[in-house]
Amino acid sequence: MTELDLLIDFHRNAERQGPGSEADTLKALSFIDLTGLDGLKIADIGCGTGAQTLTLAKATHGQITAVDLFPAFLEKLDQRSGKSGLHDAITTLQASMDSLPFEKGEFDIIWSEGAVYNIGFENGIASWKEFLKPGGYMALSEITWTSSERPREIEAHWHVEYPQIAKASDNIRVLENQGFSIAGYFPLPKESWIDNYYAPMEERFSTFLEQHGHSREAENLVAAEREEIRLYRTYADYYSYGFYVAKKAGTLAGEM
Ligand code: SAH
Repeated sequence: MTELDLLIDFHRNAERQGPGSEADTLKALSFIDLTGLDGLKIADIGCGTGAQTLTLAKATHGQITAVDLFPAFLEKLDQRSGKSGLHDAITTLQASMDSLPFEKGEFDIIWSEGAVYNIGFENGIASWKEFLKPGGYMALSEITWTSSERPREIEAHWHVEYPQIAKASDNIRVLENQGFSIAGYFPLPKESWIDNYYAPMEERFSTFLEQHGHSREAENLVAAEREEIRLYRTYADYYSYGFYVAKKAGTLAGEM
């Protein structure tokens, strides 16, 4: 198994593949006034196994196109939407977020939790905004510094992992410079990292290692995840995912 196959195998059995919660998704959605907006078309990019997709489908009654690069995650999402009676509301699509087969102005909302970092925040917004209708909304969670000063160890870690990590004020400026106005922002609370992401992950470690015969690659993956958890537990005051909700210039049909 390649490193990537192992990573997919480790994450496909999870409810979610990044920090977040149903409450966070609903809070971000609350910044969008859905009154009068029927039959919403929503793209959920980097959906993983679809934690937020299911929440969005239930809360908006819209039509969701859920995109991910990896079929193993989309299969799980199809199973979950079937079980929840949401199969007709959610269409899965295997595609890469840097070459999406969408039409200009196709969507009312573009949603993406913990995934735009794969192509970068600024680049993601620049390449996805054309798929939004005038007045449409972009809702993104993105790793964000939550303080101006931070200890060297965590600064160095993110410098290697994701040099584009920025403060909310900088990311908000990026959105504004690309023609959006901010509808809402909040950083994810610690429970969304620990209770919903890292604790369930820790529970999967031993089964995963057994299933892979404690191979060196599997041990390395678990060691890397453990280190990520240690860093978060040590430095949670300095970074989080920030949730950015922003409105493209214009007005959606049905909006007052
Ligand atoms: N939104 C989910 C998953 C976040 S993890 C959640 O919050 O639980 C990031 C997701 O982005 C993974 O599912 C990964 O498979 C997907 N991904 C990574 N690179 C991608 C690409 N180039 N195009 C589409 N999806 C990608």
